[in-house]
Amino acid sequence: MPLVVVKYGTPVLRQKGERIESITPAIRQLAADMLETMYVKRGIGLAAQQVGVATQLAVIDVRGVTDRPSSLERHGKSANVDAFMPLVLINPELNPLGEPESGPEGCLSFPEIYADITRPAGVEVKALDLEGKPIEFRCGGLLARVIQHEWDHLQGILFIDRMDRATKASLKPELDLLMAETKAALKL
Ligand code: ZN
Repeated sequence: MPLVVVKYGTPVLRQKGERIESITPAIRQLAADMLETMYVKRGIGLAAQQVGVATQLAVIDVRGVTDRPSSLERHGKSANVDAFMPLVLINPELNPLGEPESGPEGCLSFPEIYADITRPAGVEVKALDLEGKPIEFRCGGLLARVIQHEWDHLQGILFIDRMDRATKASLKPELDLLMAETKAALKL
């Protein structure tokens, strides 16, 4: 069942997600619903906070983007990115790899707002999958960017926090309007 994606100004987006201690049927259902929601919204990543749940769960699928490559390394060897999708990450931990790189980002909680964000070009990921098994891999390109964006959500960090001052200033009218609309809808 597709879920409602909450917008900037909704308090849960600023909450750090709780660690998942056991993968219950409710967690499996949440992951399935989040994948469905992400596909309906044509996103490539979605964190639990964006559907109103502050927990350490994110879903990712970069197959919809063909003009921004990703790289993947598993067990020390390069691996097929598409075959690794969709990706469900539980309690992910990241180690940055490589030099910072700038690239465009959007967010389903910030409709129509896009900006260049600087992040490490690659990342090493440790997480659990939906069976509770540990997964470990390194990635680069678009996949590394999406994973860092989703990891941020799980900590209550938003991509506007990673924008440089000038970019954020130029987007201020849109951001203020979005927050006002959200607060009016929530009657905050
Ligand atoms: Zn986002």
